[in-house]
Formats: sequence, structure tokens, C-alpha cells
Amino acid sequence: MSLTLYNDLSREKEKFVPVREGRVSFYSCGPTVYDYFHIGNARPFIVFDVLRRYMEHIGYEVTFVQNFTDIDDKMINRANAEGITVAQLAERFIEEYRRDADALGIRRPTVAPRATEHIPEIVAVIEKIIEKGHAYEAEAAGGGRDVYFDVRSYAPYGKLSKQSLDELEAGARVEPGEAKRHPLDFALWKAEKPGEPSWDSPWGKGRPGWHIECSAMSSKYLGETIDIHSGGADLIFPHHENEVAQTEAATGKPFVNFWLHNGFLLIDREKMSKSLGNFMTARAAREKYPPLAIRLFMLSAHYRSPINFAPDGLEQAAGGVTRLRNCWADLTHAREKRLGGSVDAAPFAASLKDLDARFYEAMNDDFNTAAATGVLFETVKLINTWLKEHDTLPAAFFDAAEAAMRKFDDILGVIGIGAAGEEDAQAAEIERLIEERDAARGAKNFARSDEIRNDLLARGIVLEDTSHGTKWKRKLGA
Ligand code: AMP
Ligand code: ZN
Repeated sequence: MSLTLYNDLSREKEKFVPVREGRVSFYSCGPTVYDYFHIGNARPFIVFDVLRRYMEHIGYEVTFVQNFTDIDDKMINRANAEGITVAQLAERFIEEYRRDADALGIRRPTVAPRATEHIPEIVAVIEKIIEKGHAYEAEAAGGGRDVYFDVRSYAPYGKLSKQSLDELEAGARVEPGEAKRHPLDFALWKAEKPGEPSWDSPWGKGRPGWHIECSAMSSKYLGETIDIHSGGADLIFPHHENEVAQTEAATGKPFVNFWLHNGFLLIDREKMSKSLGNFMTARAAREKYPPLAIRLFMLSAHYRSPINFAPDGLEQAAGGVTRLRNCWADLTHAREKRLGGSVDAAPFAASLKDLDARFYEAMNDDFNTAAATGVLFETVKLINTWLKEHDTLPAAFFDAAEAAMRKFDDILGVIGIGAAGEEDAQAAEIERLIEERDAARGAKNFARSDEIRNDLLARGIVLEDTSHGTKWKRKLGA
């Protein structure tokens, strides 16, 4: 079965066929870097990172572009409030974004372009749109020239959000001082206002509107027609609708073949958002819950379904991660101490093969990570059963089990195998303490050996003395 994805343009699941064989051009709308991002924003960052990993896993060469919006009203207001420049604010929160995203195991994009570093490209697209008769200049209230996209000149406007101009117009607002010809016309270029950063352009000093940056940067790094463009469902209108209109008006070619949008992360049944004030930053969330648990929580739902952010869901995910990590630790330990014997691993391999097929089936069916993580836990159950039922096991068992776990981790990033940093350092420290305890027990220094056991217990680590040596586990939920 090949990969199918639900395309918001057709509102159907379609077989994924890339523009260029073997390659994927993938653009995902990134954060506006005026503050820490919240755990709702983290959803698209995590799920589309996993889609990218999966596409790489099945053999595509993926160019993944995720922008930083580093100029808009929110940026300007926040910078003014803090008494710093917009550029300083952007620098700070790009850094903070990377700290959180790295900690959440989100791989860095192939290219992470910033709007303010692409003003010439943005100006060039706007010029092209004007040339083709789809945009116009207008006198700005405070002097200077604005440029607006002329929605009535572009017949397919509304094709992504599946609404007519009339339907869309009902929700449109014209801000005072905007000389638009139609309420849905949107700014491609905004004339300079006092106290705002500005750049030179054929229309005088000013700055780009929000939507145009994604058109300009997507075309620059990925070409005029790209395979996938993604973001949260709130971006369908107006942001993505406007991106389609601008880009297609400029190039005369289809802009995006697959539009993918994630459902909302809710809190108390409401969309988590900055404006409602009902948010938890990713920074706060990862101080409270292990990052692997946050990932598992996000991936336990289908990316298009809503997901409710609540402590019990996160705690359950943390318990799940502990189960996964314990399985990996048991496997490693058992390979060291229990390798050998004459057990036939063929039935294990056969069960694993079935699970593997189901994993790919789930992932290929519109990237169903909810079903795929279910398969992961079934695999863990299978491995645990084999470890429990056999004293010794052949290398073929360990090779197959480890390869399966590594593969799941490489795609989903929820086990943390070989994760650099804290977890590894902690594991090494535990191993060292276990050796010290073994030595203490050998020397009949039971006071010291008990002390080590109790210290570890206090840190959520349980020791288990087995006939194959001492094993350690994290307490469930620890
Ligand atoms: P922003 O920085 O506001 O442009 O948001 C960055 C990304 O987060 C966009 O793709 C949004 O669609 C997405 N997003 C914002 N709020 C939520 C939410 N509550 N659930 C899921 N995605 C969201
Ligand atoms: Zn965008």
C-alpha cells in the first residue's frame, strides 16, 4: 500500500505522488517569534516533523522548509513594549524556539528562512502580481503607498477554504485607514508607519504583509509548485487561501499539490490560544512532563482530530514512555546476560512481520499515528512476553527486536534510544551505581548497598535483582 494523504484542496484522501520522483518539497508555516510558543503550536511542529521523518524513512529525499515570521504587528508591539528592536526580539525568540523544539525532539528544518531576510524576493513577487493585474497600489492613511491583492481579479479565490467571496465577505473587516477596493483584499505591502521597521521598495518605505512571505520563501527554496504545505487548521483561511491566490496569480501554476492541516489542541474544550489566555508554553509543559511523553501524547491522536490537553492524558503518555524505555532497557540487559540457547526465534520474527505491516498500513493511511503508536505498544508487549517466557534467547531475536524498536524510534521519536544528553547521562550514572552496589554486596557492605538502592528509589528508579544480575526500571509515571 502506498502513502495516501488527506488533501484539504480536494477534501479527499489521495495517493501521494511527488512532483519530482523520489523527492518531496515540504513547506510548513512556522512560528511568529514574538514570544515562547505554546503547546498548541507545538502540535503542528511535532506532527509534521514526524511526517517528514516518515517520508525520509520510506526513501524520499525531503526538503523541509519552516519559516520564522519575524515581522508583523505582534512583533512590533512586543518589541516596543520591551524597548528593544524587532530584530533583537526575533533573535531572542528564535533562540528560545530552538531550545524548546530541540528538547521536544523536533528535527531542524532543511531551511529555516526569516521574512526580513527575504525582502528582495518578497518585493519581486509583489511586482509580478501587480504586473499580472492582480494587485493595486493605494494611498496609505499616514502617507506612503500600500499594495493590496485584488481578490475579485482572481476567480478561484476561496478554492481552499471552499467558500465564495460572498460567504467570506460576511466575516471580513476593513480597518480604518485602509483604502481597499474590496473588504477581502489583503495587504501585500504596508507603507511605513512611525516607530516601525521598514525597507525600501518600489512603493516607498514599508514592510511586507504576513501572507506574502510564505509565497516568496516557498518558491525560492522549493520551486513554484510544491508537494506539501502544512499548518494548523486556523491557517486555512485567510493565510493559506491568500498564499494560494498570490502565488498562483504570480506564477500561473498550481502552488501546492497537498494541503495538510492539523486539528486543534484544546484545553477545557476550547482551542488553546494566546489571545484566549488559556495556554501553557512548551517551556512550561516540558518542565512538567518528559518531552518524549509530550510527543507520544500528540502522536496518540490522528493529526486531523482535535486533542484535549489534560493532565491525565499527559500522565498516561508518560507511563507509556516508561513502558517503552523499560522494554528497551530489558532488551539491552537481556542481550548482555541471556544470549544463547536453542530457542527458535522464527515465530517471533513472523509476529513482528505482521506488526510491521500494520505499522506501515497505519502510517500510509493518511499518516495515522494513532494506529501506528498502537502497533508500537503491541510490539513491546510481544517483546516483553518473549523476554519473560525464555531464559535464553538467540541473537536473531535480539537483532529483530532491537531493529524494530530503533525503527519506531527513528520515525516517531518517542523511545529516546541513544538520545544524547540527560537521559543517557542518567542511565550511565545508574549503571555506575549498580556496579558500586554489586561491589558493596560482594564485600558484604550491606549498609552501602541498601543506601544505593534507596537513593535510586527516591529518584524513581527501581532495582530488581534477578538470576541474570541487577536490572533497573523507572517507576511507571516517574
Ligand atoms: P502562530 O505562531 O500563531 O502562527 O502558530 C504556529 C502554528 O501553530 C500554526 O500552524 C497554527 O495553525 C498552529 N496552532 C495555533 N494554535 C493551535 C492549537 N490550539 N492547536 C493546534 N495548532 C495550533
Ligand atoms: Zn505561512
